[in-house]
Amino acid sequence: MKKENPGQAENTLMATRNLIREAVERLGLPPVVYDYLKDPARFVEVSIPVEMDDGSIRLFTGYRSQHNNALGPYKGGIRFHPESDPDEVKALSMWMTLKCALIGIPFGGGKGAVVCEPRQLSMKEKERLSRGYIRALAGVLGPEIDIPAPDMYTDAQVMAWMADEYARIMQKSALGVVTGKPLLVGGSVGREEATSRGVLFAAREAVRVSGISLQNCRVAVQGAGNVGGYAALLLHEAGAKIVAISDSRAGVYNPEGLDAGAVMKHKKATGSLAGFPGAEEITNEQLLTIDCDILIPAARENQITAANAAAVKARIVVEGANGPTTPEADQILKEKGVLLVPDVLANSGGVTVSYFEWVQNNYGYYWDAETVNKCLEEKMVDAFHKIYNFTRENSGHLHMRSGAYMYAIRKIADAMQSRGWF
Ligand code: NAD
Repeated sequence: MKKENPGQAENTLMATRNLIREAVERLGLPPVVYDYLKDPARFVEVSIPVEMDDGSIRLFTGYRSQHNNALGPYKGGIRFHPESDPDEVKALSMWMTLKCALIGIPFGGGKGAVVCEPRQLSMKEKERLSRGYIRALAGVLGPEIDIPAPDMYTDAQVMAWMADEYARIMQKSALGVVTGKPLLVGGSVGREEATSRGVLFAAREAVRVSGISLQNCRVAVQGAGNVGGYAALLLHEAGAKIVAISDSRAGVYNPEGLDAGAVMKHKKATGSLAGFPGAEEITNEQLLTIDCDILIPAARENQITAANAAAVKARIVVEGANGPTTPEADQILKEKGVLLVPDVLANSGGVTVSYFEWVQNNYGYYWDAETVNKCLEEKMVDAFHKIYNFTRENSGHLHMRSGAYMYAIRKIADAMQSRGWF
């Protein structure tokens, strides 16, 4: 399959390694800390045979990257995407290690992917692929080893198949093997919208420290999937004005504000945002540079680049997606004085409630929505201010990405040292 942007994942991985090296050096840690963190501890590539509906057998490539488990079992989503490749999965697993350290949950970092075009698979084919992924990797997964979750184009249904396949192989119920499951099979209330609720809390605190109010703040959201869709809804409910939303095919814009609920209903009914009444159609490129106060890239990597960063009008960028800003764009936004809440902090609400789900599975006792959302809010608010203050104290400016890396790496290095790894 031809890639849209060959070499991009390699650049993302290199950029992540550079940020890690910079943090290790600024913290004065021994170089071996960088050696531990520049590559996953284990990377597995598997071939997954799947019987297609026409009776033929197709082989799909699957990956699992287990980056670092100094703070606890590896943890991270699985994405189904035609452009996934080893470098992308490795970078994503590194971000998971940082995320769990930042938000303060006892997990390390992992990530997985299957190279496929999910929209071309029937439900039955998707089920056989999900089960095949677990059969191929069961030996390196487990509630105390490595715990996957949903990511792009995987959802609660995929997690249910995966949990069921693992239980069949192990001949026992082991619900904590994956998170993001449906409620009836060990899921947690609030997990589906947890990443977006975390984005809401991150945006709210960013607005607060900027001395403005969320009420009537103009927000543009790129991506109308799990993260972007719920983020638009929750911010709309919280009183912000959603002026633009886009997905991979189209974008809609109304400077007076969109009814995010109605937009998402329209997408559900028609499969696209295009044709939403009372809104102007815009491209993804236009969305990123639209006149707004908060920009939430919530689709995929490398969207804010050297080519468009100078034209970004938002004064706050909250990274709902993983890696949406390239290093060159990062620098441009920094020079413009944009307050950027980095992915490793902004979208850590998902893994936080995944942790709550795992705790509930282990206890066999389930919380109500109020408890889940309150615990999530506490964790997000606490982490936001810790990183914001740490950044101001240590680097004297508002660029939170380096502050977040330094804060997380110090914690991971302390854990590795306590374990006697160096
Ligand atoms: P999803 O598959 O539910 O949605 C992705 C959305 O992005 C879709 O609406 C798709 O149309 C849109 N999209 C894809 N390419 C696009 C493009 N070039 N321009 C505009 N829109 C585009 O995925 P998701 O779970 O919402 O994940 C989105 C991002 O958030 C990913 O980077 C993912 O790694 C990250 N993330 C997800 C979670 C989670 O809990 N789901 C947690 C943390 C981070």
